[in-house]
Amino acid sequence: MTQRRWRGNGCHHGNQRALQHLKRHLKASMDNSRQPVSILKGIGPQSVAKLKKLGIHCLQDLLFHLPYRYLDKTRCHDIAHLTAGESVLISGIIESTTVLPHGKHNLIVLLRDDSGSIPLRFFHYTAGQLKQLKPGVRLRCFGEIRHGYQSLEMSHPEYTIVDSQDTITEQHLTPVYPTTEGLHQATLRKAIDQTLTLLGGQLDDHLPDHLCQQYNFPPLLQALEILHHPLPYQNSDSDAHRAALARLAFEELLAHHLKMLQGKQHSKQWQAPAFEHDDALKQRFLGQLPFQLTSAQQRVIAEIEHDCRQHKPMLRLVQGDVGSGKTVVAAIAALMAYASGYQVALMAPTELLAEQHLNNFRQWLLPLGIEPFFLSGQLKGKQRTQTLSAINSGEARLVIGTHALFQEQVDFDRLGLIIIDEQHRFGVHQRLALREKATPTGMKPHQLVMTATPIPRTLAMLQYSDLDISIIDELPPGRKPVITCVIPASRRDEVIDRIRQWAGKRHQSYWVCTLIEESDSLQCEAAEKTADYLAEALPNLRIALVHGRMKAAEKERIMQDFKAHQYDLLVATTVIEVGVDVPNASLMIIENAERLGLSQLHQLRGRVGRGQQDSYCLLLYQAPLSETGKQRLAILRESQDGFVIAEKDLALRGPGEVMGTRQTGQINFKIVELSRDQHLLDKVQDAAQYILSQHPESIPDIIDRWLSHHNPYAEV
Ligand code: ADP
Ligand code: MG
Repeated sequence: MTQRRWRGNGCHHGNQRALQHLKRHLKASMDNSRQPVSILKGIGPQSVAKLKKLGIHCLQDLLFHLPYRYLDKTRCHDIAHLTAGESVLISGIIESTTVLPHGKHNLIVLLRDDSGSIPLRFFHYTAGQLKQLKPGVRLRCFGEIRHGYQSLEMSHPEYTIVDSQDTITEQHLTPVYPTTEGLHQATLRKAIDQTLTLLGGQLDDHLPDHLCQQYNFPPLLQALEILHHPLPYQNSDSDAHRAALARLAFEELLAHHLKMLQGKQHSKQWQAPAFEHDDALKQRFLGQLPFQLTSAQQRVIAEIEHDCRQHKPMLRLVQGDVGSGKTVVAAIAALMAYASGYQVALMAPTELLAEQHLNNFRQWLLPLGIEPFFLSGQLKGKQRTQTLSAINSGEARLVIGTHALFQEQVDFDRLGLIIIDEQHRFGVHQRLALREKATPTGMKPHQLVMTATPIPRTLAMLQYSDLDISIIDELPPGRKPVITCVIPASRRDEVIDRIRQWAGKRHQSYWVCTLIEESDSLQCEAAEKTADYLAEALPNLRIALVHGRMKAAEKERIMQDFKAHQYDLLVATTVIEVGVDVPNASLMIIENAERLGLSQLHQLRGRVGRGQQDSYCLLLYQAPLSETGKQRLAILRESQDGFVIAEKDLALRGPGEVMGTRQTGQINFKIVELSRDQHLLDKVQDAAQYILSQHPESIPDIIDRWLSHHNPYAEV
């Protein structure tokens, strides 16, 4: 691989003496890209703090802080040929200067060149400026062209008084960077220019030349040069610019992908207990189930069985739409471990869901003589101590719980299988951490990860490429589609009437309160208010409330009572998003539906449509709804298929939105914008294979450049 020198191009305003000083500071041989920004001239503690807000800590972060647009100060435009909306440089002679007599007393300066004239409008000006801007003076101005009262005009331009000999010195487009309050463009530009000059000679290309040629990528330094200081023909619309941006995004995606693949390879060296068991327990279990497994469930179970018979840990993701029957697959996997003499841990993202699994597993397994244990953060005192010691002694063979299962005090004796339900609620980071959990024998447990969040294939690669994937692509027979309606909140009274009629027919309903804020307490407060309001409007109905802030036991009691039809209406926050299973509840109202992601709405809707009767989901929205908002809710009305919904949402909103922080596994990209760079994902996959086989030596460098500095996976 070649080193390419940064070519100083005259427009980096680096003060030579300051640079000399800095270079002395930096040891010539080491990688300085991780030096703090504070070593730069002009970057004091205040700027350091501001840069931090932008996620910029070290020099390399500055290199990858890209402009979001450019100003063209490289050439003058003819005044006669300007268009509204563009920001341009013009040059001419002042023809007249007028202070408007009415209103705000704007200053209007009429500027003329050979082609025509245009008014410059100044909203504020000093007496000095008024004196300066006299007819006959030659000006060069930069500003935005807008529609004025009578003609196009330039409002409040930057200007310089020039003499006729004056020539334009800018050769490059001027970058405009994303910034934060109090941090000036000039400060950012200077800092980035210094960094380019300092690091230019040291930045290696880690991408093999072959790949760069194949995809027409410029070398790294050239790409940075084009992005920070493009020549006029390298503007945002140019191929050169696109290639430069793609070069960086590609490498970043590649780093993430390689990291995952590396994790997968790494885990292949681990030993796992190979399950050896006969089928008797599974057959007894199946014999007492009130239904037949679907063929998709059977196929996935066979895949899991095959994996767990190996001496290497299984790392398998089971993806299946809401209601596809993942729980029973988990139960059968748990039985495999059990029958082979190992412990199983089943982790759910919420107390409510963990408790519900506990109930399901009790029902299924107690008749087989298997007693599930329970551990959550809520479990305290003696009960907790007892459970911990049962886990430690190996007496607790099957433990169901929340993430409390994997805290330090929890020591398993013979952990053979970890099952993670609704993994998208945990984030990649937690999942990867869990994997490191070893048993005293040094063996790693098998891992089964389950999710209902349908992720389009291309995006799955970023989140799950370290896992083998099984898909339950079939719903149990007899499921009816949930009839979905989109209704403005102004028709709330009609909706409340619907609930009354519904209860009259002995059916139950959910009312889901949502808020855009991820704040638990606000959400609970809103739910409480709604419950009060509904209690008043529906005095004859039995109404219950569950939200995240209630004690586990209380939530559990209410859910049980709701299931036993002690209540007609359950008012809830999105805590019921996952897992809750009450077949007689067949009407769901979701408030502020326009604020939720489609996948989340689909997931919520999956709580109904579980019984024999027709089910309904009413999506209430606050008018007015945008055009996209309408289209999005229509998608939900028209489809019941989680994958279709996710793909359409993706097309409509782009991956950034669809994969909202909660679903991306919290990946913070520096350069990549999935909506723009999605098309690179296939290439990245090919390139990763090529590098793994031909250039494994460059893998650590690539990962290090993009991922090592700070944790790319934000805390959950
Ligand atoms: P999810 O995949 O959303 O976790 P669950 O495991 O909660 O779905 O299953 C939803 C419902 O479907 C449960 O009541 C479960 O007992 C039932 N179920 C699962 N598999 C089948 C099947 N093969 N036939 C009929 N019902 C099934
Ligand atoms: Mg489930």
